[in-house]
Amino acid sequence: MTILILGGTAEGRQLAAALVADGVDVISSLAGRVSTPTLPAGRVRVGGFGGAGGLADYLRREHAYAVVDATHPFAPKITKNVVDAASMTGTPLVRLERPGWQEHPLANTWTWVPDAAAARAAAERAFRPFLTTGRQSLPDFAAWADRDVLVRLVDPPAASLPQRWNVILSRGPYSYHGEHTILIEHAIDVVLTKDSGGTHTVAKLDAAGDLGIPVVIIARPEPAPVPLLRTVAEAVVWCRSLGALRSVGRSIT
Ligand code: NAP
Repeated sequence: MTILILGGTAEGRQLAAALVADGVDVISSLAGRVSTPTLPAGRVRVGGFGGAGGLADYLRREHAYAVVDATHPFAPKITKNVVDAASMTGTPLVRLERPGWQEHPLANTWTWVPDAAAARAAAERAFRPFLTTGRQSLPDFAAWADRDVLVRLVDPPAASLPQRWNVILSRGPYSYHGEHTILIEHAIDVVLTKDSGGTHTVAKLDAAGDLGIPVVIIARPEPAPVPLLRTVAEAVVWCRSLGALRSVGRSIT
């Protein structure tokens, strides 16, 4: 039984590890955006499929029994493509997505916006923003060449950035102490982020709250119209239930 995990997240890796330990044949698919990704257990493939049609072909070719879309909450194209591909091929699909930060104790003090352009507009008065909205959102902030932006990225930016901008290249998880220090040392006056959820990158929001620094946060896109699982444990149970269904089907036929 081959299960395809669309990954690129900690949850995708954790699920792959759990299923491989269960003896399941797992293929994890990564987009190939990060130069040195942390590789999941089991088989791994890297690179786009060429749209929903290409992904459907791949599911057929690999005889995939089911798909778990464990991609990042802000990766809407692949999430849309897999819904279409699963429907074209009749492949069972679930979405594994960690909860967002709406329940964070400070969530109602943040400015929630729908996209990066709105985030820039909401923080227009800032002089020293801390930008953690990801590499793909950088063009939306190009007009901020006149201010001291601190950008944090996993990989170097694809295009050169304005001279006044400072770049931190790093990958979480981040500690409260480290985030507190960054906010003070760079005299940050607004933090811009997106509702990634989870614990790895939440410390900047806690530190900003304690320092009285405003936060502008991009809300998640509309959820995909598929069953939504919130934890890796739930996804493991779902995959095991498929295995059980398959054995029942075999004993009947
Ligand atoms: P996206 O805009 O939804 O996807 C763009 C294209 O990249 C897709 O149409 C697909 O190409 C390819 N792709 C994306 N994820 C893939 C995967 N897991 N396996 C194979 N191809 C994939 O996604 P994105 O924002 O570029 O993010 C790319 C990957 O990085 C995602 O897998 C996500 O889990 C991970 N990630 C993203 C973020 C973020 O903030 N966006 C943060 C952390 C991790 P084809 O149409 O050619 O198949």
